[in-house]
Amino acid sequence: MGVKRGEQTYSSSTPSSCTVRSVRYGECQKNHAANIGGYAVDGCREFMASGQEGTSGALKCAACGCHRNFHRREVETEVSILCCDPIHCIIEW
Ligand SMILES: [Zn+2]
Repeated sequence: MGVKRGEQTYSSSTPSSCTVRSVRYGECQKNHAANIGGYAVDGCREFMASGQEGTSGALKCAACGCHRNFHRREVETEVSILCCDPIHCIIEW
């Protein structure tokens, strides 16, 4: 029996994988002519937050002033990364 002793690896914090999703919002789809029975969008091509994340401005488009919900939601990338500390694994895009 050749059980080798005396070698120990301390791997209490094994890296775990986190999935980071980068979401962006496309063109504005709000119908600005709904009240007159027509259909007209403002032509805004991409959502740009007018305020910092966490404030009400983060949900408002700086370009057209519409709520983020009016913009087409597109999930751009989904990446798996390895991190040893999932609690502190916050990635900002
Ligand atoms: Zn808009």
